[in-house]
Amino acid sequence: MSGTHGTGVPLCDLHQQYQELRPQLEEAVHRVLASCQVINGPEVAGLEEEVARYCGAAHGIGCASGSDALLLAVQALGIGPGDEVILPPFTFFATVGAVCRSGARPVFADIDPQTCNLDPHQVENKITPRTRAIIGVHLFGQCMDMEPLWRVAERHDVPIIEDAAQAIGAEYQKKRAGTLGSMACFSFYPSKNLGAYGDAGMVVTNDPDWAARVACLRMHGMEPRYYHKYMGWNARLDAVQAAMLRVKLPYLDAWTEARQVVAKRYDALLEDYHLGHFMQRLTVKPQRRHVFNQYTVRVAGGQRDALMRHLKMEKIGCEVYYPVPLHLQECLAYLGHAPGDFPASEEASRCVLSLPMFPELTAQQQERVIQSCAAFVRQRARRAA
Ligand SMILES: *Cc1c(COP(=O)(O)O)cnc(C)c1O
Repeated sequence: MSGTHGTGVPLCDLHQQYQELRPQLEEAVHRVLASCQVINGPEVAGLEEEVARYCGAAHGIGCASGSDALLLAVQALGIGPGDEVILPPFTFFATVGAVCRSGARPVFADIDPQTCNLDPHQVENKITPRTRAIIGVHLFGQCMDMEPLWRVAERHDVPIIEDAAQAIGAEYQKKRAGTLGSMACFSFYPSKNLGAYGDAGMVVTNDPDWAARVACLRMHGMEPRYYHKYMGWNARLDAVQAAMLRVKLPYLDAWTEARQVVAKRYDALLEDYHLGHFMQRLTVKPQRRHVFNQYTVRVAGGQRDALMRHLKMEKIGCEVYYPVPLHLQECLAYLGHAPGDFPASEEASRCVLSLPMFPELTAQQQERVIQSCAAFVRQRARRAA
């Protein structure tokens, strides 16, 4: 085996961030413990206000996770059995999980192969009299194409829910994710751009009625106390997580800028090593602020899996988001889909690869990642010769 041996490069490393913020994080945890206000309370309310303001929206409602945020948003719209919700098949499972958990039927619309985001032009012919919402995902940190989606949504009077789990701080035409639809759902899963130390999430909206509905649903649909208006859940945001997230939020823009620097360095390295054709980065569309939760490339020539094995052997973190599109998942077989139904999503599942990406990633580490990719290409060329 040839290749550049040396220390590995992790896909995501949270240690440095923790070390830098450790005193503040510990202070925040102790503040909550000492207050004994561990359910809802001022830390949760504080974070809700700060995240809503960060997005430029009126209301934030903390939830137990990004998955719960999606479920509560769907339910707040009154969606349930007999209803349909349109979404892309190329996303994390939670997007479709929320639809199914509400009792509604997911209806898929394919993606734009350049960005891997929902193709708004595939949406209109999926609309039926039962369509109650469209969930658009801002995948990997880039906002989807909103303008054409707004037109479809308006024509058919269907609300848009943003799955902004990977896109806090992302912008489309200078507007932040969180204000591009009727409601938006964020995840504070540890590896997201604003990560908690456990599970946490939030719904953000400008609409006071939907905000109140989400807040009610996360507390067993209780309104007033011990009178249950809706069939809700316990899906509250943990106060300790909220306090730690409040420590981190002021650093988010600096971390986002660092991610953008990392992405630019990858772009340059792919050029320098003449890898541009072998590994093509997903397109960044104009009028966007891409926050690079992932740096994702398409690997040419059916070599994705071989490259991944090579990188893993060299202790370089990489991951396929996502290897199986939702319409081909076992638990959704009842929808009756077959391979070929959503070709762009299926093709993306076969060729995408995400490289190490976190704000503290160094130029040296990135050089090592790309050198290792170049070594793989040389090896293949030698073998073919
Ligand atoms: C992470 C993620 C979710 C779910 O968030 P959790 O906080 O892990 O429940 C939903 N959608 C997308 C696109 C995600 O990346």
